[in-house]
Amino acid sequence: MIAPDSCLRLRPSVAMVPMEDGCWQFFQGNTRRSRVFKLQASLADAVGRLNGQQSLAFVAREAGAELGRLIALAEVLHEACLVEDVEVARRIARSPWRRVLNFIGDYIPSDLLESTFLRLDSASVVILGVGGVGSWIATHLCQSGFGHLILVDDDKVEPSNLNRSLYTFSDIGRYKVDALADRLRHIRPEIKINCVKQQLSDSEFLASLLLGQSNSTIVVNCADAPSVDATSSMVDEACRLVATPYVIAGGYNLHLSLIGMTVLPGKTACYHCSRLTLEELQSEDLAEMRKLARPWRNIGSLAPLAAITASFSANEVIRIAIGDSRIPPAMINRRGEFNFLTNEMHFVRLPPRPECGCVRR
Ligand SMILES: [Zn+2]
Repeated sequence: MIAPDSCLRLRPSVAMVPMEDGCWQFFQGNTRRSRVFKLQASLADAVGRLNGQQSLAFVAREAGAELGRLIALAEVLHEACLVEDVEVARRIARSPWRRVLNFIGDYIPSDLLESTFLRLDSASVVILGVGGVGSWIATHLCQSGFGHLILVDDDKVEPSNLNRSLYTFSDIGRYKVDALADRLRHIRPEIKINCVKQQLSDSEFLASLLLGQSNSTIVVNCADAPSVDATSSMVDEACRLVATPYVIAGGYNLHLSLIGMTVLPGKTACYHCSRLTLEELQSEDLAEMRKLARPWRNIGSLAPLAAITASFSANEVIRIAIGDSRIPPAMINRRGEFNFLTNEMHFVRLPPRPECGCVRR
């Protein structure tokens, strides 16, 4: 709420550039976005004086601007993240989370910034499978301020896992969830972690886990046993039942990082919609794949490809948890493929399929 005694300043990343005919461009350097406003000379003078040291009432008097107009303009500039409340900025400067807060603050107005960030702390994220992708996602979320992770995996760390996951030699033989929980507590001691030493075996198991959560919950599927298709189908069933958003984290086979889709049950295309579209698109590719279906087929993996998949998925979880239309999830109704050989990204559109019936009209 902007008031006469509010002390505002231009955000450090914002430049105020004069243009023709009394117009001013406010350029947001971090996001490369800009807004143009036509301003009376006295209002432009007042905005140029906003350095957080004086109230709007004082600045309006000094610049000879009408206070009501300055407040109305300040509300627009604040909503566009071009100016910030200096009290909030000072609190953030003292926070160990200031780099995350400053990042989010390029999208979220300063009066909502701290409460928005707290949504990450109060959310629960269920990570199914904490191998090459899941261990990276858990670490990214811990580093970004998430306060509660539920790690689900019954695997133990093996020497062959160390090429792509965040485990160390001394973790070999330990349950992955225990080793990862220790690692995360070294990053953020106050993080709450539940370790579930089970494999995702059916949707009822996941649904009961989700029903036991009191906070807003997000599911990330990184489980590939018995197969990504099988686990994604279980995740879809459980998440649809309890209306929980989920991210299919993708994988890193075929020398591609697959960037999975985000599903908001009842609102966006679901996993089954994606299968219907992909089967149509890939019928020729799948025929080729069947030729390769030998029991001794080797599957390679590389840490950077696992980390790329994980980074995209963690970004999605952050955007879902923020829950603000200014930073919407980016992987709704589509998935991506990052090609190792060319460094190119290719996106496939996966619209809701009427025959699936998952999207409420
Ligand atoms: Zn569907």
